[in-house]
Amino acid sequence: MGLTMTEKIIAAHLTAGSMARGTRIGVKIDQTLTHDVNGVAAYLEFEATGVPRTKSELSVSYIDHNLIQADYKNPDDHRYLLDIAEKHGIVVSRPGNGICHQVHLERFSCPGKTLLGSDSHTPMAGGVGMMGLGAGGMDVALAMAGEAFFFTMPQIIKVNLSGKLPPYVSAKNVAFEMLRRLTVKGAVNKVLEYVGEGVNTLSVPERAIITNMGTETGATTSLFPSDEITRQWYVAQARSEQWLPLAADEDAVYDAVIDIDLSALEPLIALPHQPDRIVPLAEVAGTPVDQVVIGSCANSSLQDMVTLAALIKGHKVHKRVDAGVYIGSKQVYLECAARGVLGTLAEAGIRILESGCGACNGSGFAPPTNGVSLRTTTRNFLGRSGTASAGVHLVAPEAAVAAAITGVITDPRTLSNPYPAFALPAALIVEDSMFVYPPEAVGDDFVVRRGPNISPIPDLGALPAVLAGETLIKVGEDITTDHIVPAGANFLPIRNNTPEISKYVFHVLDAAFAERAKASGGGFVVAGVNYGQGSSREQAALAPRFLGVQAIVAKGFARIHLANLVNFGIMPLVFVDPADYDKVSQGDRLRLELAAVKEQGTATLVNETTGQTMLVTTPLFQEEIEIIRGGGRLNWIKARQSAK
Ligand code: SF4
Repeated sequence: MGLTMTEKIIAAHLTAGSMARGTRIGVKIDQTLTHDVNGVAAYLEFEATGVPRTKSELSVSYIDHNLIQADYKNPDDHRYLLDIAEKHGIVVSRPGNGICHQVHLERFSCPGKTLLGSDSHTPMAGGVGMMGLGAGGMDVALAMAGEAFFFTMPQIIKVNLSGKLPPYVSAKNVAFEMLRRLTVKGAVNKVLEYVGEGVNTLSVPERAIITNMGTETGATTSLFPSDEITRQWYVAQARSEQWLPLAADEDAVYDAVIDIDLSALEPLIALPHQPDRIVPLAEVAGTPVDQVVIGSCANSSLQDMVTLAALIKGHKVHKRVDAGVYIGSKQVYLECAARGVLGTLAEAGIRILESGCGACNGSGFAPPTNGVSLRTTTRNFLGRSGTASAGVHLVAPEAAVAAAITGVITDPRTLSNPYPAFALPAALIVEDSMFVYPPEAVGDDFVVRRGPNISPIPDLGALPAVLAGETLIKVGEDITTDHIVPAGANFLPIRNNTPEISKYVFHVLDAAFAERAKASGGGFVVAGVNYGQGSSREQAALAPRFLGVQAIVAKGFARIHLANLVNFGIMPLVFVDPADYDKVSQGDRLRLELAAVKEQGTATLVNETTGQTMLVTTPLFQEEIEIIRGGGRLNWIKARQSAK
């Protein structure tokens, strides 16, 4: 029996378990990446492992997420990241060098290898056949320390592409079509593997948009083959020796098949406030637009920028629209400068913003009150833009240009400029001076500078034998990590200060939550399906735990957040009967014997306020349950060290 691409990569990296679907497996990680906002915690955790130097083939620390530097906090974080990298053997991509996933794709990706990133869009590397996995910082720290990464062996979905995208309908619409079919939870514990003749019509940047946005379906990762188109990409990057072919075997066996005819796609749009609220763009055409944002790791490649310039050339940004672009990397920036793209954009009235994440995570360029913002970014979660009342819509770059010109949501197929054909040049500009490579070793007197905003990871004690307390909050379906710990310019600088960021847990939904949790001495969170959707930020587990949350009782969990709950000692419980969700109200006192929680077992959750009982289970393996009982992964590491 032949193998899928996923199975080939996993088989070559398997350190524990077998490839039986749904079982726990460990894989060797070849490369890691972090970014500034999640990276500080990851490196604090790496320090706690006591390993003096990273054991991965390559670890890169990107500084791209929060470049505002409004006071000492950001620059202190950046300085810590530079120092810790020098000490432990990590490459730093300095501020201005670009967005982690775009830069990594260009300069470090390798087909067939594994990449673990403390960012949920790490699957973007799948555009070249590299297995990119998003994880919390703790898991990345452990991978840097040479530990395997454990996850559930996913089901593998064959996405069979046929046809060719029509003009003005670019690859983002393939991602939207996947979201329309799968929703934001349809691919949890699944890999999306793209095959079929349609693959041959897509460039590497187009494939990378699709694998990047696969994250929004909940997928473990997404993969394209590494073929002749991929080889040409590596030649253009002056890295041809790092190219390897990768393809599924003809007789590979898949768990399900999705067919997409690229020729039949039309411009789509995601309505506020979830990426799966997909409708044909024509349905909302005519809606006035206040802001247009072009960029993010999903749409900031050279191909995106060349397309943008070609479509806006000779036009001006509408007087009611504030339009800005984030160029994805220094390479793309230099190419744009050399091709006259920057001049075209400036002439049209588009603001050329710093190469980084920027507005995508709410780091500046927020929309106005009740504003309509059209973005080529990855997510449109409530409040992520920095303006809770704004309606953020996700679109492809062509629709963003069309709205920038007309001032209303506009079908891009009505644009007057012809749609450009993009050809990858034989050689792209390679200018790597913004990477800082570590020395072979540093002296014993080397000092890592830590600003006052960087707080140590708090000591988390073991969970009590009986979990008992108040239902501190009851939330609905698809609660994102942005709901739990907010993004945005006001909150990113305090992400690495646990006492400070914990004051804003669930702030988007209930500003009184933190005070209530502290006053009650801890308790439970009750939620619907897909709890913890979205980003990999581990503070969405650490900060609630710091406030005393002991367990989350939900109808289901997102993959990365589930792992983060293990790492920070919060017990995830799932209602055996989803209807039992209705048996708990906010404020009810709940009680559970911890010893009753076992892998594949059921335990009784008692609602002491109403007298009702409910059966719950946990999606965890037994070792993970034990880690939680002991207070999380850091305690587990320390116990292992003292045993040694
Ligand atoms: Fe940055 Fe946005 Fe991409 Fe996250 S999704 S890496 S915030 S550009």
